[in-house]
Amino acid sequence: MQSSLSLSLSATSSSAATVSRSRHSFPVPAASPLNLRFCGLRREAFDSGLAASLKRQQSQLPRQPHSAAVSAALSANGSPPSSFDYDLLIIGAGVGGHGAALHAVEKGLKTAIVEGDVVGGTCVNRGCVPSKALLAVSGRMRELKSDHHLKSFGLQVSAAGYDRQGVADHANNLASKIRNNLTNSMKALGVDILTGFGTILGPQKVKVGPSNKIVTAKDIIIATGSVPFVPKGIEVDGKTVITSDHALKLESVPDWIAIVGSGYIGLEFSDVYTALGSEVTFVEALDQLMPGFDPEISKLAQRVLINPRNIDYHTGVFATKITPARDGKPVLIELIDAKTKEPKETLEVDAALIATGRAPFTQGLGLENIDVVTQRGFVPVDERMRVIDTNGKLVPHLFCIGDANGKMMLAHAASAQGISVVEQVTGRDHVLNHLSIPAACFTHPEISMVGLTEPQAREKGEKEGFEVSVAKTSFKANTKALAENEGEGLAKLIYRPDNGEILGVHIFGLHAADLIHEASNAIALGTRIQDIKFAVHAHPTLSEVLDELFKSAKVKAQASSPVSEPVAV
Ligand SMILES: Cc1cc2nc3c(=O)[nH]c(=O)nc-3n(C[C@H](O)[C@H](O)[C@H](O)COP(=O)(O)OP(=O)(O)OC[C@H]3O[C@@H](n4cnc5c(N)ncnc54)[C@H](O)[C@@H]3O)c2cc1C
Repeated sequence: MQSSLSLSLSATSSSAATVSRSRHSFPVPAASPLNLRFCGLRREAFDSGLAASLKRQQSQLPRQPHSAAVSAALSANGSPPSSFDYDLLIIGAGVGGHGAALHAVEKGLKTAIVEGDVVGGTCVNRGCVPSKALLAVSGRMRELKSDHHLKSFGLQVSAAGYDRQGVADHANNLASKIRNNLTNSMKALGVDILTGFGTILGPQKVKVGPSNKIVTAKDIIIATGSVPFVPKGIEVDGKTVITSDHALKLESVPDWIAIVGSGYIGLEFSDVYTALGSEVTFVEALDQLMPGFDPEISKLAQRVLINPRNIDYHTGVFATKITPARDGKPVLIELIDAKTKEPKETLEVDAALIATGRAPFTQGLGLENIDVVTQRGFVPVDERMRVIDTNGKLVPHLFCIGDANGKMMLAHAASAQGISVVEQVTGRDHVLNHLSIPAACFTHPEISMVGLTEPQAREKGEKEGFEVSVAKTSFKANTKALAENEGEGLAKLIYRPDNGEILGVHIFGLHAADLIHEASNAIALGTRIQDIKFAVHAHPTLSEVLDELFKSAKVKAQASSPVSEPVAV
């Protein structure tokens, strides 16, 4: 992501650790990345000096098609094989690798995917999927526990309760189901799934453990994902000091849990834990909670998702040391002031969830064999996901997608990058517009966004000399939201009044994660407000919130694409 668009980050320290996965134990990169936020979703480009130098190198890179651009670098990286086992080999069968594999088959490529653990990667096994299963439960618990909400519908429910193991099983069963779906979809299409850890040996050559079989491919995609980032000084025991990997198993519901980091992962878990009866304390290094959101949205989110719930928080503090509960003592969290570094209080809680971001998983990949040095663990790539070596040259036929490149640490971004790469290797130049990729936080209600926040848009407008306007609509005016007794919500449009360009859309409210796509598709397709405001929305639906939003914008430009030939019905 361009540094100008990335969201605020706080520095983190380096640490060496080993993170256990279900089958293998993979070493975690010794140097941690920045503290990932937006919800932790977008990564600040590498530190500014390095980013500038990479940018310089990239601007000198040729703009020809991939095959021409890479040929110069080929000889420097050893000789490539003369024939190949596969057209495309993907290392890592997470959502990114899976998306790339399916598209590759559609394009007629002979494709293999290497997986060192279980198919599905983080999203399916330790991320999006089980977390959304838990959030589905927390949403229902909230409704059932809210007398006021139920009474407003004329409903009566005697007592809401839950069976912890039943909830955990729901998450686990969903992950298994989706994992099987993913595996079967690849098998059915003829993708070879090679089980083992993949190591790049040289151009177009990968060793797959444990048999150490050498596999060659015309093009290779690195899609090795990420693991939880645990800052130095924090001891994870997997029971009382946990990461999202452990929390998703829901082996316990602590009475009092501290959540370190208020990005989207921390926020979603606060929704789950408070619905299941826990008290939550946020520990946040920056001065405000949810620092990655548009400020107006974070304010509203704080009013609805934090203040009325069993949640308190400490902002502007670092947790320098966290000791798991042992010998009858609680979990101890030592806090210092984030600015002065002066010691502050020590919290005593039942459990701590470390939600301080994700570290790319690139160790052991053999990047040194192709002269690539990671930047805080992330694989350096250009805007076409082509890997860049230490000399700033493109590594022949090598791409990196998903969390491992850190451009936008989201499942659908990983998959979209994979599809984009396949388009390129099959002859169509393609650059993915990351500003059109939506993001969502699945709390109750949900938060979603695409494009720039208001401060980012204003900064860009000032630099580039255009005016920025804002339009807003409330869910309180939407019939469907009111029918559901869910009028608490806001949609915000940030746009250029001169030409109607959509710069950003932010939604807080019922089904915000589904609603955002009208805006993200408009950005992706370059649709302007003066055109989209004539699109018709069914009544009564939540989509009318966006209809109202586009209609309320004051754009000077006229509609540019009138339908010239009406279609009769
Ligand atoms: C709690 C949580 C909730 C989340 N919720 C959402 C959400 O709601 N929406 C969303 O968009 N994103 C969400 N994410 C983020 C999302 O999970 C990631 O962005 C996504 O999984 C990245 O996909 P990937 O394909 O890049 O990597 P991964 O999914 O991490 O997959 C990488 C795969 O590569 C394998 N691998 C690694 N190295 C090797 C090697 N050398 N050889 C062979 N195999 C290897 C790994 O075992 C793994 O299976 C969430 C993450 C977490 C932790």
